[in-house]
Amino acid sequence: MLSPAVAAPFPLRWGFTTKQDEAAPPVRLKQVHGCDIHRAQSDVQEGDGLWTQTPGEAIGVRVADCAPILLAGITNTGPWVAALHAGWRGATSGILRRGVAQFQALGGRPSELAWAVGPCIGPCHFEVGAEVLEAARQDPAWREALAEPRANGKWHFNLPGFLQAQAVDLGLSPEHDGSVPHCTLCEPQRFFSYRGGDTQGRQWGWIEILPK
Ligand SMILES: [Zn+2]
Repeated sequence: MLSPAVAAPFPLRWGFTTKQDEAAPPVRLKQVHGCDIHRAQSDVQEGDGLWTQTPGEAIGVRVADCAPILLAGITNTGPWVAALHAGWRGATSGILRRGVAQFQALGGRPSELAWAVGPCIGPCHFEVGAEVLEAARQDPAWREALAEPRANGKWHFNLPGFLQAQAVDLGLSPEHDGSVPHCTLCEPQRFFSYRGGDTQGRQWGWIEILPK
């Protein structure tokens, strides 16, 4: 498992699996490329993000090119963690904003959140059409440098860079950014890639508050 490159704010097990990892949390989410997030429970819920304050309750998202995002911080009611699934739809419709808003609603300060974007399809490979850029340009964090025009009239979109720009725009600190930059399509020996032909296999981004 690849660990975020940032100190955990409290005892955590967290990271991003590869094809070589067996460990995984229970499935609690039916992902739908939306931006609903839920407090974790044992039943499967439909949405693209989970959060919990319960020690020992592992939560995660499954991805193969989309970005997994992990968040960890202290609220008024103690440690809080979240796992979010962000493809371009989730990213442009604000799933990270919703996750940070949930943390703030519990008294957390965004600047103190430890956070990490995991392996996902990189700007080297993520070819998108105009509808993706149209959606991304609505975001206050958008910069034109996050897309590179291609000769075929499409663009290469920097999904992890867009999420990192959003995070900073939401008040998260670059000092607490533990993102693990790998392109899932560039490294087929380590990662599942939907665009690379893996229609079934998924890796996890997951996180668990360790019991005291
Ligand atoms: Zn690549």
